[in-house]
Amino acid sequence: MSVKGIDHIGIAVKNLEESMPFYMDDLGLTFLGIEEVPSQKVRVAMFSVGESRIELLEPTSEESPIAKAIEKRGQGVHHIAYSVESASGEIDSLKRKGIRMIDDTAREGAGGTRIAFIHPAASGKVLTELCEHPKAEKENQDEFS
Ligand code: ZN
Repeated sequence: MSVKGIDHIGIAVKNLEESMPFYMDDLGLTFLGIEEVPSQKVRVAMFSVGESRIELLEPTSEESPIAKAIEKRGQGVHHIAYSVESASGEIDSLKRKGIRMIDDTAREGAGGTRIAFIHPAASGKVLTELCEHPKAEKENQDEFS
């Protein structure tokens, strides 16, 4: 496992516009943009904080995993994402160790990333994401990292 750092912390919110001023105005984090990720039925607002980011997640449908998380536990910290060189490589290596994955193959995340979630049963209930930034886009990424 070659984790390079904490890529971001995902926070589930009911409404981006209501939640953003705290991060933008009160904490003074740099706002990077809003993006919709249809595959996960979320709208995502990104803020940079040092080498890491804060990812606010707003559900766009009641079927969104984020809607379900808010229903169960309310708004708050949803997952921790580690940056890795290769999401698919880490999936293979974790599975070889018997670690249960939510995503058996890497899928598309915000900002052109490839992501995969580890099953909370395998990570002490801390929802854990692996996040790979595509190499070809690494230069452009400064606007989104
Ligand atoms: Zn995330």
